[in-house]
Amino acid sequence: MGFQRIILVHYHEIGLKGHNRASFEKRLQRNLEALLAAHPLVTIHRIAGRLVAFLREGTSYEQAVACADAITGVPGVARVSCGFKCERSMEVMGAAAVAALREAEPFASFKVAARRNHTDFPIDSMQMNRDIGAVLCAEFPEKRVQMKEPDVTVGVEVVQNAVYVYARSVRGIGGLPVGSSGKVMALLSSGIDSPVALWRMARRGAVPVGVHFSGRPQTSDASEYLVDDIAHVLERTGCIGRVYVVPIGDYQRAISLDAPPSLRIILYRRLMFKVAERLAEAEGARVLVTGESLGQVASQTIENLCATQAAVAMPVFRPLIGTDKLEIIEQAQRLGTFEISSQDAPDCCTLFMPRSPETHAKIAEVEEAEAQFPIEQWVAELSEAAEVHDYACPGYKPRRRREGARG
Ligand code: ATP
Ligand code: MG
Repeated sequence: MGFQRIILVHYHEIGLKGHNRASFEKRLQRNLEALLAAHPLVTIHRIAGRLVAFLREGTSYEQAVACADAITGVPGVARVSCGFKCERSMEVMGAAAVAALREAEPFASFKVAARRNHTDFPIDSMQMNRDIGAVLCAEFPEKRVQMKEPDVTVGVEVVQNAVYVYARSVRGIGGLPVGSSGKVMALLSSGIDSPVALWRMARRGAVPVGVHFSGRPQTSDASEYLVDDIAHVLERTGCIGRVYVVPIGDYQRAISLDAPPSLRIILYRRLMFKVAERLAEAEGARVLVTGESLGQVASQTIENLCATQAAVAMPVFRPLIGTDKLEIIEQAQRLGTFEISSQDAPDCCTLFMPRSPETHAKIAEVEEAEAQFPIEQWVAELSEAAEVHDYACPGYKPRRRREGARG
């Protein structure tokens, strides 16, 4: 056989970005190079609207599939195809198509989809389809040729100096490469929603930095371990750069002792938002992100969302605002964070939970209740106390302001 194994990475959305296209492609290329370090990869090239990953000589089909599967979850990837590079000769292309199709077993039906990226190749795509199809029919007499929704489509792509032939092809996660849309600061609990919210921003090309508020020292640090596990899942596809862990337990306790019980949750949340905003400024992130979903719990009524938003000047993005819980759960399952998020950890919010939280908070009342606390000082103390955890994220660049600029 002796064909060089390749993985073809297709993208569609980033192909549409006009003059930005080259930088998007380079971003995706760099992200993949960094994320695939553990796979038998030689190099990644950009060719005619695709990336081609060249695999080391002797790479098995299983190893190629493992590498392809690692690519499908990376933002910016629309489709991933496993196959071979070969010469621009019809005979060799036929042999490569046979080799690729053999690896795609089990299947019952197939078709050939050839395309020419260079008209200097004398045979047009219709003719290639027929000729390669004939070779495959002879080699796989028990299989059916089917034009509409076949089990396997054998792709043949002729470019300037080579041909890429593949049969196994799976859809990618889509979106834009992480690092093409700027930094965001995501409030990351160990719950189900916020990891999904953060990931959705990463899929749109943002570089997420997380901030987790732990109930420590009033609770154990169990939620911090869960958040670290979640970050490691997100790290696999380069979707998180860093997490700040802020122990907020003592401050919540102080609020719970002196604030009207019904307003506690809103006051906790406003404090979290303010600290997140402070950390975001230091990181160079311009928006906050939460996993809030309209009406899901008492603190997520329109009034309460407004009352927490009013605590900060920074815009708050809520990618899940109109998403049903069941859809969020499905997404968390696909992402691989659901199991982790389903584990119990003391939530710093539930710790000092009132019996009947306010569902229609009035901003004036909230501000009045808040006025008795030294909020500015607390925000300075808490952002100073934040502990930093870094994760591998090719799109992330840390940025710390000059020390004097804070607190
Ligand atoms: P999640 O499943 O994301 O925890 P939730 O349905 O439990 O969300 P809330 O507890 O009201 O809802 O939290 C709403 C949002 O506030 C979360 O999605 C997250 O962005 C943020 N948040 C809540 N608790 C914390 C925390 N301990 N640390 C950081 N962010 C938090
Ligand atoms: Mg929660």
